[in-house]
Amino acid sequence: MSEENIINRIAEICQLISHYNHQYYVLDEPTVPDVEYDRLMRELTALETEYPQFKTLDSPSQKVGGEALKAFSQVVHQLPMLSLDNVFSAQEWQAFVKRLKDRLKSSLDFAICAEPKLDGLAVSLRYENGVFVQAATRGDGTVGENITENVRTIKSIPLRLQGTNFPDVLEVRGEVFMPKSSFEALNQQAIKKGEKGFANPRNAAAGSLRQLDSKITAKRNLAFYAYGIGFVGASQDGNGIDENWLADSHYQRLCQIKSLGLPMCPEVKLLENATEVEAFYQDILQQRENLSYEIDGTVFKVDDIALQQKLGFVARAPRWATAYKFPAQEELTVLEAVDFQVGRTGAITPVARLKPIFVGGVTVSNATLHNQDEIDRLGIKIKDTVIIRRAGDVIPQIVSVVVERRPADAEVITFPSVCPVCESAVMKAEGEAVLRCTGGLYCQAQRKEAIKHFASRKALDVDGLGDKLVEQLVDEGLIKTPADLFKLTTLDVSTMARMGAKSADNLIKGLESAKNTTLAKFVYALGIREVGETTASNLAQYFHTFSAIKSANEEQLQQVPDVGVIVAKNIVNFFAQDHNVEVVEELEAIMSWPDIEVKSDDELPLKDQTFVLTGTLSKMGRNEAKAALQALGAKVSGSVSAKTHYLVAGEKAGSKLVKAQDLGISVLTEDEMIALLNS
Ligand code: NAD
Repeated sequence: MSEENIINRIAEICQLISHYNHQYYVLDEPTVPDVEYDRLMRELTALETEYPQFKTLDSPSQKVGGEALKAFSQVVHQLPMLSLDNVFSAQEWQAFVKRLKDRLKSSLDFAICAEPKLDGLAVSLRYENGVFVQAATRGDGTVGENITENVRTIKSIPLRLQGTNFPDVLEVRGEVFMPKSSFEALNQQAIKKGEKGFANPRNAAAGSLRQLDSKITAKRNLAFYAYGIGFVGASQDGNGIDENWLADSHYQRLCQIKSLGLPMCPEVKLLENATEVEAFYQDILQQRENLSYEIDGTVFKVDDIALQQKLGFVARAPRWATAYKFPAQEELTVLEAVDFQVGRTGAITPVARLKPIFVGGVTVSNATLHNQDEIDRLGIKIKDTVIIRRAGDVIPQIVSVVVERRPADAEVITFPSVCPVCESAVMKAEGEAVLRCTGGLYCQAQRKEAIKHFASRKALDVDGLGDKLVEQLVDEGLIKTPADLFKLTTLDVSTMARMGAKSADNLIKGLESAKNTTLAKFVYALGIREVGETTASNLAQYFHTFSAIKSANEEQLQQVPDVGVIVAKNIVNFFAQDHNVEVVEELEAIMSWPDIEVKSDDELPLKDQTFVLTGTLSKMGRNEAKAALQALGAKVSGSVSAKTHYLVAGEKAGSKLVKAQDLGISVLTEDEMIALLNS
C-alpha cells in the first residue's frame, strides 16, 4: 500500500467508526453488527501499530464510548470508566498472558477473576453514607449522563446498603441489562404496535435507561450486576471503617459489595491461574443459550489488586483485564434473491437466498422471510445488505437491513400472483398475514398432506394406510390425488418397501370398505381450509346433499352454524378451482353415503335451537350427545354467541361457561340435557 493509500484508509475507517459509535452509543440504534465494528477497529489498530506516524490524536482507538447526551445533566467521573481490550481465540489469550508476565517481569502464575461479559451498558452507582445518591452512564469515560432517577426504578438496585460496614462514599460499577425474556416481551409489544423494536437486549437496555421520563424506564424491567468498585471515600465519621475496608482481591471486593445487598452475577468464579481460563470460557459458552441474560463473551481480570496497580492502564482500557469474546452470532451478508415455497398447508413462504456466510458456527445461505408483513417490517429489498443472526439452535433470521448500503438497483420483493407449484389462485384470508395456494387436493406441494388427511381416522379411516405409505406411494408416482387411492391394485401396493402381499391385500380391502361413508365424513375428508369435523357435520345437516354444498354461495353457507365469512369464502374458493372439481367428481363416482333423512317438523322438536357443548360429558360423551341433539333437529355449534340457546356444561367447563353466563344463555348440566332428550 502506498503512503497515500494508508492515510486514506485510516481516515476512512476513523470516519466509519465515529459514525457507528454515534449510532450505537448516542442513538442506541446500531446499523451494523458488532463483528463488523470489531473488524474495522482491528484493522485500524493494526495499521496504527505498523505505521504509528499516521495515528491521529483523536483516533477512535484511543477513546472510550460516545459523548454524553446533552439532554441529561452531566456527571464527571471521579475515577474514569474505561472499556476493555478484546481477545478472540486461545492463542490471543495466551499472548495476552505473556504480555502481562513480560510487563511484570515474572513467570509466576496469578489468580484470575472470571466473569461473563454482560451485554448491557456500564453504570456507576454512588452511595453516600449507605444511601443511593447518584447513577451515571459511562459516556466517554470521563463524563457520563446523570440517570439517577431512572436507575431508582431498577428493583434489584438497593436504595440503601445493607448493614453498617461500608465507607462514606462508595461507587459501585456494573452493568444494567435487560433479561432475555423482558427483551422478547418488549419487542413483541413493539411489533404489535407496528413499531420497529430494538435490535438486541443491549440496545433495549440502553434505550430504556437513557429515557428522559423515568416512568418509561420503570416499565422496562431492567436488572443489574455489579462487577467492580470505582471511587471509595475514606470514612470520616468514625464508624469504624478505615482504608483497609477494601479487600486486596478483585473477587473478594465483589463479595464485599454483594454482602451490602448489590447483585453479583452468579457465574463469576475465582480461577487459580491462567490455564483455567479456556475451560471457563467453554463452560460459559455452553451455558450461553440457557442463561436468562445476554452475554457476548467472558471477561478475565488479574485478581490481585497490587498486581493490577503495577500493570496500570492504556488510553481506553486497563492492562490487567481483557474480554475474551464469543464467536459472532450476527453477521453481514447480501440478499441475492427471494424464492417462494409452498408448505404442506398451502402457505406460501418467501425464502431469502443469501450470499453464504459463516455465523454462529455454521454457514447460512437461506432464511425465512415469513410473510409480507415481515418484509414490510424489515423494509427489505433484493440486493440489500442485511444482518443475519444465528443464535444457538435457533434457525437463522434476518434481523435488519443496512439501508446505508442499499445499491441503486435494489429490487422490490413481489409475491407471485399464482401458486408457484401448481399455478392455482392464491389468496390471503382477512386478518391473516399468510398468502395461501387454493390448489388443495391438486397442488403437488400439498398432495401428501391432502391424501394423509383424506385417509385419516376422523375422515375416511382407511385401514392399513399410514403416513409413511402415503409418502412412498406419492414419491413413486402411483397416486397424485385421493381419488387415485381407489385405483391402486394389490400388485402396486406390494411393490412398496416393507409391504408383504398380505398387508397389500388388507389395504385394498380397507380402501374398498372406506368407499362407504357418511356425507359429513366425506366433506371433512376433502380437507377444505378450516372445515373441521363439526363444520362438516353442520354442513351435511343443513344442506342434506353434496351437490347443495358444492353449489352454495357465501351467503347461503353463512346460514350454517359455525360458518362465518372466512370459512364460507374457503368453501366457495375450493369448489371454484377446476382441478378440485375434477378430483371431487371422480370421488363422487366412486364413493357413496346414505341420504340424510329429512324429517318432518314434528319429528324435530329441537329444530332452530342451537346448543354448545363444553367440559367433559361423563355419561354420554360429546360425540354421542351431539348426534342425539342433531337427530332431534338441534344445531350444535362450537362457539358461544348471542345466537346460542343452550350451553351444556360438563365437568371442568371453562371460558365458554363464563361467556354463556355473561350473555345470559341457559346453562344445562349433562343430566338436564339427558332429561331434555328423553322428554
Ligand atoms: P466492550 O463491550 O468492548 O467492553 C467494555 C464494557 O464491557 C464495559 O464498559 C462494560 O459495560 C462491559 N462489561 C460487561 N461485563 C463486564 C464485566 N464482567 N466486567 C467489566 N466490564 C464488563 O465495550 P465498549 O467499549 O462499550 O464497546 C466496544 C464494543 O461495542 C465493540 O467491540 C463492539 O462490539 C460494540 N460496538 C458496536 C457498534 C456497532 O455499530 N455495532 C458500535 C460501537 C460499539
